[in-house]
Amino acid sequence: MTEESRGFLERERFRELFDRLLVRGYQTIAPVVRDGTIVYAEVSGPEDLPRGLRDLQTPGSYRLEAEESGRFFAWANGPQALKPLLFAPREILWETRRESDGALSFSSSSPSPRPLAVIGIRACDLSALALSDRHFGKGPFPDPGYALRRRDLFLVAVDCSHLADTCFCVSTGDGPEAQSGFDLALGELDSGFLVRSGSEKGRELLRELSLPPPESSMEEALKIQGDRARSSQTRRLPSRNLQNALASRPDHPHWNNLAARCLSCGNCTSVCPTCFCFSEREEPALDGCSSLHLREWDSCFTAGHSYIHPAPLRGETRFRYRQWLTHKLDYWHDQYGRSGCVGCGRCISWCPVGIDFTEDLPLLLGEADGH
Ligand code: SF4
Ligand code: SF4
Repeated sequence: MTEESRGFLERERFRELFDRLLVRGYQTIAPVVRDGTIVYAEVSGPEDLPRGLRDLQTPGSYRLEAEESGRFFAWANGPQALKPLLFAPREILWETRRESDGALSFSSSSPSPRPLAVIGIRACDLSALALSDRHFGKGPFPDPGYALRRRDLFLVAVDCSHLADTCFCVSTGDGPEAQSGFDLALGELDSGFLVRSGSEKGRELLRELSLPPPESSMEEALKIQGDRARSSQTRRLPSRNLQNALASRPDHPHWNNLAARCLSCGNCTSVCPTCFCFSEREEPALDGCSSLHLREWDSCFTAGHSYIHPAPLRGETRFRYRQWLTHKLDYWHDQYGRSGCVGCGRCISWCPVGIDFTEDLPLLLGEADGH
């Protein structure tokens, strides 16, 4: 285990973190405001970050407004997690070409990513990353594109001090403080950041920054801030372990109530940091001489995702919603030893009709199932 180092980075010195990452050859990704939301994009310094803003999130709603502390991270999360940076929404897996002698040749397509440093990752998204690593990065056949993008990541996490109304990371055990999986973690106060290392790479960078040790009053203020954030979170899952709880209720009438509202749009799966469904297809060139084999994000909410000749297995929305929630909260325990939900709340904020499964679960787990 790596020994943890700590230091205090004054707000005025925040730029030095970006500069050190640049010197080390990283392309730096951090939160920025785009189209009224906070997303990850390449930045050149702290001036690009969403400073002095907070997010107001409720079921089916997300908006930003000014806040007075001037902090860089006075908001909870935006629609993106780390997922698109590692599991590309659309990528070419291989190309097929017809050569002049008529033979077919195949060439694989590998990304050649620059080392990325990502600043501002939340605790829930670190947990989601650990799950993605297990899904894509481990086992006998790791995904080559994912592994290449994952290899040189430098992760700077931020403890959440301003939770959204839609967050429920405390009940899933994933937040609000970053616990593991980061190189550096920041705890933000009005005057600056308490920085702690989580890896040898992080310790080295912290040493280069030559920060003074944090005062005990700062440590205390951060602890109070974290406790306050934790106790302000009211939304929760009824249990961290719902294994067999949903699969044993396939005919519960509340699935029909959910289906009556759900548009099967797939927004929830697009924003979910742990959803990993994809589909593959061929894209032939018009001259008939070559073809690209593509992988694209898909969703269990699309009819085509469960298509097995001659029809989709889940032809109705109630079967698709049931599949999504039952897999996420129930079958994941069989696959990965925990639920697939890290409590980020994105599927609640970004659902156009405001479906909030934390409110539906008690109804689904209730006795009105006819059994
Ligand atoms: S299911 Fe919803 S709350 Fe859970 S990780 Fe996915 S988007 Fe976040
Ligand atoms: S639950 Fe909401 S976001 Fe998900 S498919 Fe249904 S309507 Fe779309």
